[in-house]
Amino acid sequence: MPKDIKVLVCGAAGKMGQAVVRAVDSEAGFKLAGAVDRVGNPNIGKDIGLLCGINEIGVKLSGDLKETISKSQADVMVDFTMPEIVIVNAQMALKAGICTVIGTTGMTKSDIAELSKLSKQNSTGAIVAPNFAIGAVLMMKFAKEASKYFASAEIIEYHHDKKLDAPSGTAIKSAELMVENRKLFGRDTVSGKETIKGARGAIGDGNIHIHSVRLPGLIAHQEIILGGTGQTINIRHDAYDRTAFMPGVLMAVKKVMELDCLVYGLENII
Ligand code: NAP
Repeated sequence: MPKDIKVLVCGAAGKMGQAVVRAVDSEAGFKLAGAVDRVGNPNIGKDIGLLCGINEIGVKLSGDLKETISKSQADVMVDFTMPEIVIVNAQMALKAGICTVIGTTGMTKSDIAELSKLSKQNSTGAIVAPNFAIGAVLMMKFAKEASKYFASAEIIEYHHDKKLDAPSGTAIKSAELMVENRKLFGRDTVSGKETIKGARGAIGDGNIHIHSVRLPGLIAHQEIILGGTGQTINIRHDAYDRTAFMPGVLMAVKKVMELDCLVYGLENII
């Protein structure tokens, strides 16, 4: 019988981290090996299963990633923390030869390039995905395809009001994929000036305007609207619950063990 994949979750006390702990605990073939969060978290030392609303699972929340890496013998680290610290966590894991799955958004292109180099140097797999929901990956694929036929496009992304980064990693990644099929969008058709600064949103890759909505009640949603002569096409994805991301996370945990370099985007592994 194949051995369970041992998973260390970084950011385990956070919203996504808790969902990953529950998913790992409930899925055959995976075993939770470690759970880490910020050193000052009041739940350090408590059983992570109880914190996540499931049974006691015998893994205590730790505030020390280095120690957990050496004690847990994890195969894969999954990181859902914050843009300022994910790079340090990932460097620590990759240097220790632990495959790394990153869901944290807000990393710069140079952060990703740096991790890519480290992953190659250590022949240790890494997957960075701004969106683990399969539906969101399909939305991006469909938008890339539609970009061949529509010369104008804008993105509206909607997230909960606690989200730290704007625009979302998914919006940035969507624009990056769309410019693979069309270098420049909308340049000839848009006129008029902004009478309130920012009204036209941020300008992403390929002159694709990106609008970030932040409201309580939302989870993660995005529309990509493409416009042509006398018609528009609207491609929309809604994640109503964080469980939407879990099949993609577990798929990445399995896949990353076969890699010896960094892969950016879930679309490259499904
Ligand atoms: P969250 O609830 O704030 O969780 C982040 C957790 O990381 C918190 O518990 C935070 O602790 C902890 N943390 C902070 N510093 C740490 C450190 N040095 N070491 C370990 N843990 C540390 O946020 P979330 O909603 O779960 O989102 C986490 C990230 O995932 C965000 O970047 C978000 O955009 C991204 N995300 C990605 C996807 C995807 O599919 N890729 C989907 C949803 C969200 P404190 O609360 O004490 O600061």
